[in-house]
Amino acid sequence: MHINDSLKYLVGFKKALSRIAEGGGEEYETRDFIMDSLRFLGFSPILCAQTGVICPIDFGKEKSIAFRADMDALPLNGDYAHLCGHDAHMALLLAFAAHVAEDLPDYDCNILLIFQPAEETFGGAPGMIAEGILEKYNVAEIYSFHVFPSLPGGFMASMPGYMFSDSSKLIIRAKGLSAHAASGKEVRDALKAAGQIVTDINNIPPSGKALCRVCTLQAGRAQNIIADSAELTGIIRTLGLQSHGEMLEAIDEICRQAACSSGCEVCFIAEGGYIALKNDGRLYRRAKELFGKKFKKASPCFLADDFAFFARERPGLYMLLGVGEGGQTPELHSSDFSFNEKYLSVGLKAYITIAENAPLLESKK
Ligand SMILES: [Zn+2]
Ligand SMILES: [Zn+2]
Repeated sequence: MHINDSLKYLVGFKKALSRIAEGGGEEYETRDFIMDSLRFLGFSPILCAQTGVICPIDFGKEKSIAFRADMDALPLNGDYAHLCGHDAHMALLLAFAAHVAEDLPDYDCNILLIFQPAEETFGGAPGMIAEGILEKYNVAEIYSFHVFPSLPGGFMASMPGYMFSDSSKLIIRAKGLSAHAASGKEVRDALKAAGQIVTDINNIPPSGKALCRVCTLQAGRAQNIIADSAELTGIIRTLGLQSHGEMLEAIDEICRQAACSSGCEVCFIAEGGYIALKNDGRLYRRAKELFGKKFKKASPCFLADDFAFFARERPGLYMLLGVGEGGQTPELHSSDFSFNEKYLSVGLKAYITIAENAPLLESKK
């Protein structure tokens, strides 16, 4: 199929998917659209993890490589909209399937298309992995694109090692003792402890590898009673286990000092969410060889993506797909997010190139 026809498919799929737009874990219509489209193309897609879909494309080979798209949209004005471009990611996989259906290529490994729910919410990746899809289809490598407005259209980017951070929810609780605010007694003021914690956490020097921010604070029951309890919540994002451990130590020390100076009991929990996303350095270098100048080196940042769970299980490469135009393209998650769809053909061509050369870790050179 000529790439221009593929682009027509791509844009058609994206438009249809953007009209459906459902939230994380509720992608039922999206799932059905994907199932129907793949069946129409002659494939046998399979339901996975409630609203997810996998589609094995068998070339009679021993190993598979997987391409993964996320499926969920974001809330907007009481409805949902694809403000993170996941409609484009799904369309890339469907257009790839259309290419295979029409051109009948013969790749040196099988392909597994993975349509994964709930990237934005609870993380659908572990649920799909738990169903054993990586073992069942002998997945040797896994790839995923994310459209990226701050990267100029026509370019791709990735990097070896930790590229996106982990994400944890931080909850800190201080327990004190209430008293009349005018009593003048020596009291254990939970709000005082909380205030000190907010200041100290926000003063943790930035390292480029770890970030912590307090975002909510609730304390006290009445305007004339000293607060006997306070709760703070926020985020922790770190690149790699070592920086995660160091950040937890820093928070622990801050809580200890606040407890000391206020007399309150202070405890914290860091509820694990997504792990940090670590790309396989060998896949990065092979992709760089294949794509040349159009393939840039990305910088690590504090975004998170549950593709990280796939990349923990198998050599993985998460790639940014440039859709930026002169700094005018709205950022991901902004309410007016949109971009010039012509740049998606770069992603489709890249998936085809990877499939033609896969598995990339068994270099044919
Ligand atoms: Zn997003
Ligand atoms: Zn996204």
